[in-house]
Amino acid sequence: MPQLYTQAVDLQQVLSSEKEKNHTVGFVPTMGALHRGHLSLMERARRENDIVVCSIFVNPTQFNNVLDFARYPRSLEEDMLTLRKDAPDYLFAPSEEEMYPRGQHKTIDYLPDELGRRLEGEFRPGHFEGMAAVVKRFFDLVKPDRAYFGQKDYQQCLIVKDMARYFGLALDVIMCPTLREESGLAMSSRNALLSTEERKKASIIYRELKNAVVQLHEGHGVEAIKAAARNTLAQEGGYAIDYFDICNANDLSQVREWNGKDKILVCTAVHSGHVRLIDNILAG
Ligand code: AMP
Repeated sequence: MPQLYTQAVDLQQVLSSEKEKNHTVGFVPTMGALHRGHLSLMERARRENDIVVCSIFVNPTQFNNVLDFARYPRSLEEDMLTLRKDAPDYLFAPSEEEMYPRGQHKTIDYLPDELGRRLEGEFRPGHFEGMAAVVKRFFDLVKPDRAYFGQKDYQQCLIVKDMARYFGLALDVIMCPTLREESGLAMSSRNALLSTEERKKASIIYRELKNAVVQLHEGHGVEAIKAAARNTLAQEGGYAIDYFDICNANDLSQVREWNGKDKILVCTAVHSGHVRLIDNILAG
């Protein structure tokens, strides 16, 4: 089981002694309710570093919806058991007061600009600002050599890379593949909030993403593909759809026509009842 720290000063003390031994530190920030997707990031961090640090913190400032924050699954004790097998060395689970003493550190001198405007940024105002600030705070406390993020949150990962570049942080931000349930549904802490029926049905999200890529390769038009996917997700899934989009994978700008070569991201966000699900795949 990892050593649990709730105080930043204690974590920093143990990490500085690791650094003195020239140990490299891999860091995996999470909001807990851990699943195999999270564990896959820790396994990668373990392979590439001497020490692995995982954090669990449900960050209030990145929730644009108070109900979503209230409902977000929290299970520290169960997470500790999950981590028993694939343990990071240190688990940092700070309180809100520890992360934001006297309400400080909630904002930083960085704006995601274009990268943060579309997709999640459009539907979750303030989300990326809160996310970037909390990740910066973690980076300052942990000072990792490498930090691991999932492709499932592709836009988040691009913004973290951009933020790290902006501040000139000496660390690598590494994007890891999305782990999926057998049905194809991307693993997510929020899946626990779905009923068995909703969970089964949610496999159509990945199916529609893959379908879109097949149709792109067949030369169908981008707008027609997006409209058809939205329609299917609404009709068959009964979902309210925030977006189903096809973007340039580097800058997330909209793709109007695909030349079959450029790297593109096909991505979507839908609401299954009160649970918001996102997923994406890369092509090209
Ligand atoms: P979260 O706890 O949802 O904030 O996620 C913490 C990290 O785990 C983020 O970098 C996510 O992108 C990543 N992650 C979440 N779900 C998956 C998944 N199914 N496969 C791989 N990584 C994931």
